Amino acid sequence: MVGQAQLGGQSILVLPEGSSRLLGRDAQRTNIAVASAVANAIRTTLGPKGMDKMLVSELGDIVITNDGATILEEMNVEHPAAKIMVEIAKTQDKEVGDGTTTAVMLAGELLKNAGELLDQDIHPSSIINGYKSAAVRVTEYLQTISKPVTAKDTKLLEKIASISMGSKTVGVGSSKDFLAKIVVKAVTQVAEERDGKTVIDADFIKVEKKEGGDIEDTELIQGVLIDKEVVHTNMPKRLENARIALLDSALEIEKTETDAKIEITSPQQMGEFLAQEEKMLKDMVDKVSKSGANVVFCQKGIDDVAQHFLAKKGIMAIRRVKKSDMEKLARATGAKIATSLDDIESSDLGHAGIVHEKKVSGEQMVYVEKCKDPKSVTIFVRAGSEHVVSEGERAIKDGIGAVSSAIQLGKYVTGGGSTEMELAQELHKYATEVGGREQLAINAFADALEIVPRTLAESAGMDAIDALVLMRNKHKKADGRGVGVDVYEAKVDDLTEKVIEPLKVKLQAIASASETARMLLRIDDMISSKGKAGGHGGPGGMGGMGGPGGMDMD
Ligand code: ADP
Ligand code: MG
Repeated sequence: MVGQAQLGGQSILVLPEGSSRLLGRDAQRTNIAVASAVANAIRTTLGPKGMDKMLVSELGDIVITNDGATILEEMNVEHPAAKIMVEIAKTQDKEVGDGTTTAVMLAGELLKNAGELLDQDIHPSSIINGYKSAAVRVTEYLQTISKPVTAKDTKLLEKIASISMGSKTVGVGSSKDFLAKIVVKAVTQVAEERDGKTVIDADFIKVEKKEGGDIEDTELIQGVLIDKEVVHTNMPKRLENARIALLDSALEIEKTETDAKIEITSPQQMGEFLAQEEKMLKDMVDKVSKSGANVVFCQKGIDDVAQHFLAKKGIMAIRRVKKSDMEKLARATGAKIATSLDDIESSDLGHAGIVHEKKVSGEQMVYVEKCKDPKSVTIFVRAGSEHVVSEGERAIKDGIGAVSSAIQLGKYVTGGGSTEMELAQELHKYATEVGGREQLAINAFADALEIVPRTLAESAGMDAIDALVLMRNKHKKADGRGVGVDVYEAKVDDLTEKVIEPLKVKLQAIASASETARMLLRIDDMISSKGKAGGHGGPGGMGGMGGPGGMDMD
C-alpha cells in the first residue's frame, strides 16, 4: 500500500485519512464505465432524427435541447472521468462549434472497445499505441477523401450550414435552408484575408435572441444590435447616415474617491455650485458635439443633465454599453473607441446607414445597421417561445461553427456516417499491414468509428446490423465511398454532395476522442482526497452512474 508506509514497524499515513484510491484494472474499469455512461447519455440525440432531452435545473429552469455540449454541461457530472468527457464536448464546441455529440460518443466507444481488449489481457500500452497509429492513419486518409471548398462557394456552404443546423429540429424545423443563407452571409461578411489565409473570428457574429414572432423572422443585421434604449425621450430615435462616437469614459462628473466636504452657507453659493457642475457637463457635451457625432455609445454612465444637453443638440445617446458590444460597434462602424472626451476627433467617428430604436416584444432595442462592409454583424434570432428561440440560437451557433470550419480548412467530407464507414474500412486494411497486438487495437478503433452510422441508422428506425453490413459491402467497392445512412428515407444510400460536413469538424472530433481515450487508458492509479463532496466525488463514487464502489485507504 502506498497509502501507508512502514518504518520500523510503525505505519505512517502518506495520504490523508479518508482519501480513496483505485489501482490498476479497477481504475481503468471505472473510468471506462463512466465514459461509456456519459457517451450513452447523449447517443440518442445524434443526427436530424435524434431525440431531444429535457433538462431541469435545481432551480427548475428547463432546457430542451439536442446539443451534446449543452446536455453535458447541464448534467453537472461529478466523476472526474465524466468531467473529462464533458471537456471533450467543450473543446469541440470552442474549436469548431459543431460535432460535440460525435466526439463524445466516439471517445466512449473507443474506451468501451479498449475495455474488451483489456479483458483479453492485452496490455494498455499496446492499445494506446494501436489507437495512436489508427488516429494518425485516419487523419491522413481524411485528407485524401476530402474535397475543396472556398468562401465563394455559397451553395456548398449553405448546404453545410443547413446540414449542421438540421439536427436541431426544435429550434430550426423546416427553416434550415432559410437560416443557412443567413449564417453563410454572416460568416463570409466577417471573414478577413490575413497573410493569404482566411481568418474568421466568430465572436464578431453577435447572436441575439428574443422570443416572439416566427423563426423566419430571424434577420441578419449588417451591424450591431444593442439590447439597450436611447437614454432620453427628447433624443432622436432614428438617424440616417449616422456619425457614431464610441466613448469609454463617463459623461458624468467623477466623484472623488476620498471623502470631501463642501460647505455651502448661502442659497447663492448653492446656485453657483450647481451652475458650475452644469457648466462642466455642458462642456463635456460640447466636446462630443464638436466632433460632429450625432450618436454616442457610452460604456459608462451619462448624467441626467448631460442627457438633457445631448438631447438639445439632437444627439442620440446610449449608456452602459457592454465592452464586448463596444468592440463589435467599432468593427462594424469603423469607429475608434475614445478613452477620454478630449480624444474624440471627427476622424475617429464611425458610420452607419441608419441607427434607430425599435420596440421588440415590449423592449426597446437599438439597431445600428446598414453599415458599409461591416466586419461585425448580428443575427437576431426570433421564435415563438423561449425554448425554441434558445435551441434556434444553439443551431445557428452550430451553423456558424460549421461554415467557419469549412472555410478555414477549405475542405469538406460526406456525412451520414459514410466517412466513418470509409475510415473503418481503411483501418481494417491497415491493421493487417501492422499485425501483432496493435492490430487488435486498430481494429477496435475501426469498430468504434462505426458507432456513428450505427446510431444514425437506429435513430431512423432501421435495423442497425443490416444497415452496417450493407454499408460495409458497399464501401468495399471503389464507388461506395459516399454510402451512408439517409435518415429521412431510412435507407442506406449514396450521400455524396447530399449530406456534407466540414473536414475540420471530423478531424477535431477524432483527434480529441482518441486523445482522451488514450489519456484515460494510461491511468492506473486514481487517488482522490476527501473533498467537499463528502466522498461521492472520488473515483470510487460513481456520481450516480453505477459501478464499483470506492476503496478506503485506512
Ligand atoms: P453533433 O453534435 O456531433 O454535431 P448532430 O446531432 O449534429 O451531432 O449530428 C451530426 C451527425 O448527423 C453527423 O454524423 C451528420 O453526418 C449526420 N447528419 C446530419 N444530417 C443528416 C442527414 N440529412 N442524413 C444523414 N445524416 C445526417
Ligand atoms: Mg451538429
